[in-house]
Amino acid sequence: MGEVKGYLKYKRLEVKKENVNSRINHFNEFTIELADKEIKLQGARCMDCGTPFCQSGCPVDNLIPEWNDLIYKNKWNDAAKRLLSTNNFPEFTGRVCPAPCESSCVLAINTPAVNIKNIEKAIIENAFQNGLVTPTLPKIRSGKKIAIVGSGPSGLAAADQLNKFGHLVTVFEKNEVIGGLLALGIPDFKLEKNIIERRIEIMKTEKVEFKTKIEIGVDITLSELKSEFDVIILCGGAEQPRDLPIKGREFKGIHFAMDFLKQQNRRNGKRIFTDDEISAKQKNVIIIGGGDTGSDCIGTAIRQGAKSVLNLELFPQAPKMRSINNPWPEWDIIDRISSSHEEGCKREFSVLSKEFIGDGSNVKKIKIARVKFENPDPNTGRKKMVEIPDSEFEVEADLVLLAMGFEGTSKNNLLTELNIKTNDRNNVETDDKYMTNIDGIFASGDMRRGQSLVVWAINEGRTVAKNVNEYLNK
Ligand SMILES: Cc1cc2nc3c(=O)[nH]c(=O)nc-3n(C[C@H](O)[C@H](O)[C@H](O)COP(=O)(O)OP(=O)(O)OC[C@H]3O[C@@H](n4cnc5c(N)ncnc54)[C@H](O)[C@@H]3O)c2cc1C
Ligand code: SF4
Repeated sequence: MGEVKGYLKYKRLEVKKENVNSRINHFNEFTIELADKEIKLQGARCMDCGTPFCQSGCPVDNLIPEWNDLIYKNKWNDAAKRLLSTNNFPEFTGRVCPAPCESSCVLAINTPAVNIKNIEKAIIENAFQNGLVTPTLPKIRSGKKIAIVGSGPSGLAAADQLNKFGHLVTVFEKNEVIGGLLALGIPDFKLEKNIIERRIEIMKTEKVEFKTKIEIGVDITLSELKSEFDVIILCGGAEQPRDLPIKGREFKGIHFAMDFLKQQNRRNGKRIFTDDEISAKQKNVIIIGGGDTGSDCIGTAIRQGAKSVLNLELFPQAPKMRSINNPWPEWDIIDRISSSHEEGCKREFSVLSKEFIGDGSNVKKIKIARVKFENPDPNTGRKKMVEIPDSEFEVEADLVLLAMGFEGTSKNNLLTELNIKTNDRNNVETDDKYMTNIDGIFASGDMRRGQSLVVWAINEGRTVAKNVNEYLNK
């Protein structure tokens, strides 16, 4: 343990951010990191609890108390080795993870948690700067060939692990860029793309092969791939967006959030796109859906120069503090103000979008009603939504972005050709070793568990890699 009673002596420090008026003029990351000596004292706040709840709160079981202690003792290199032993890409999670570990930190019972996510980012960035993250090639190659379909964090983690086990890995990606939602979903202001490229370069030197602009199921069939590789892992994500089939949905100016976010990421990367341009400039923008995707649309629309941004959410605003039925060490369901929310949007909760009103061609307004949720049904546990009478109102809408979540994997040839089974949530069904109904074809990440988090995708990639390695060594 770093410093006995360090948690009493040192306060949690938050990273600073470039001020709003300045950061909305660009798409780059804008956090101003703590100095190493400050990070070290943040590590000193860790109590090295007998049962480290933070570690079980972290989906990849990061050895959090160990690295907190190591940085307090200025052993940054050892801390990096510990961190990389459980997490292939801490430079991604250190930027975009919502940090369930911090919700589970024992300090968080009645005082601010240890600043785990920022410590993680500091350790890995320090390691990169000091030349510690270098390519390591396996000493022996098994000769077994593995194809990974999809290059998101799950596919990348699986590729990294299996390559280290000595297998020959090829990652197929339908887009022009590697990284899945890290590259084309999450905006640059949360994760700059050179951070992904830096890691991919290392993986390429380690002899992981990447093939972009190849859609499995279209350019190459799954059975062709199966005849060439010993194992296939499907890591295609959960790309099917939830639609809002209300009156007026056909008007121009109503788009899925991902179509909007992808374009901006491509624009930032100076890459070509052929679909019609979607721009928020000088528009009244309505974003339907109050989650992460909605928040990313807010920050992007503001940077594009939107006239106004309104975020609509069906469910009520979460409380400021944990409620009694959401106890520690569970993930705390509270109203989180994202950096994008700070940048100037208005938020409306408990509202139902009822109709898009247009001028015959383009969307012009949206009709909304206020709703309330009645006590849960004792049999189903579900709360019934009731519209509040005479509560309808209309708001100006020149651009509407639908960010209401995803409904599992896209329905396409990838799964239909060999009849890969999906479950009632439209995720690929697997056994407990992540193998699909077809021998030798596995699945992981959002494609298996549904839309989730980067850290869960890394966990799934690592788990499927372990299972595939066992399968190949049977
Ligand atoms: C807008 C947005 C913001 C998010 N922000 C956060 C965040 O801040 N923090 C966080 O933890 N999580 C966030 N998430 C969730 C997180 O990005 C995902 O859970 C994670 O990326 C899932 O990883 P994956 O590898 O399973 O799939 P994905 O990242 O979706 O990658 C799947 C890849 O497979 C490719 N593919 C699909 N089918 C084929 C095919 N047939 N052939 C070849 N390639 C194919 C796709 O093109 C894609 O590149 C966000 C999600 C969205 C949509
Ligand atoms: S990956 Fe996420 S949950 Fe795990 S230690 Fe890092 S911030 Fe916490």
